[in-house]
Amino acid sequence: MRPSAFSNKGEFFKGNLHTHSTNSDGLLSPDLVCKKYKEKGYDFLCISDHFVGLYDYPITDTTKYRESNFTTILGAEVHSGSMQNGEIWHLLAIGLPKDFKPSNSPNFVPSQEQETASDLAQRCRDSGAFVSIAHPQWSGLTLNDAETIEAAHCAEIYNHGCAVDSDRGDGAYLLDLLLSQGKKLNLIATDDAHFKSGDFFGGWVEVKSEKNEPLSLLKSLKEGHFYSSQGPKIFDLSINREELNIESSPISSAILVGYGSASLASHGDAMVRTKIRFPPGVERTNKTPWVRIVIIDENGRKAWTNPIWTNEL
Ligand SMILES: [Zn+2]
Ligand SMILES: [Zn+2]
Repeated sequence: MRPSAFSNKGEFFKGNLHTHSTNSDGLLSPDLVCKKYKEKGYDFLCISDHFVGLYDYPITDTTKYRESNFTTILGAEVHSGSMQNGEIWHLLAIGLPKDFKPSNSPNFVPSQEQETASDLAQRCRDSGAFVSIAHPQWSGLTLNDAETIEAAHCAEIYNHGCAVDSDRGDGAYLLDLLLSQGKKLNLIATDDAHFKSGDFFGGWVEVKSEKNEPLSLLKSLKEGHFYSSQGPKIFDLSINREELNIESSPISSAILVGYGSASLASHGDAMVRTKIRFPPGVERTNKTPWVRIVIIDENGRKAWTNPIWTNEL
């Protein structure tokens, strides 16, 4: 089978789903943020300011920055309820309506009176948003925390800002534990750019869509027709019970990971067509209920597919 990101009609559009502006704690105005991403060649952007009272619950209106070859999706980073460590939750909601009802979140201090993160995530999803668990490693999120967000479509596998400024940009460990518990979550790479450091242009999604328009992109995001990257491109990918084939920009490694310790890898120089054969009789790689594929270029930059559920192969 070929995952939908590669088999569906349309083309790949590159976008960053997590960005801040002067409407919350970012350094640059929404106008300038859009300009930067557009000039860098991005096809779309979501400015996701912090949806708290401190900033007057912003859903930054970027509609006026849309052009023929650049679009925007409205959204926010929403906050409510306490994680196990006592800090407030961070969730990304991409595709919120402009009049989304504020949570009772005056600032970044959680309180008993506010809705739980789980309820807020559900409310975002019900209003049409694509919902992601933000920066699990930076937040110190536990598996128990993450399991409560039933409305999540995905988790951030890479958050560039958290990597640059905190060395905590990774989401793979938590995501893999959730997948191994049978939770069907996709994954995204994002910038979480504030433009106060080099926290931009480091992680993005490549969304397969027939049009570079907000509703079409949002539909593809919700249905999982995308992959995530720090640089490498995946042109095509097919997988069956015997082998995996990847067509990509030049890479040094392709790695398949799955349940528990399951993994298989292929290494080489400037590989553009990579095949990994599944050895017969290796229980842990052949019986895994899910796999996901990571490719790595010579500079260590990665691209990630969404998880593939092996009962669909
Ligand atoms: Zn955050
Ligand atoms: Zn953020």
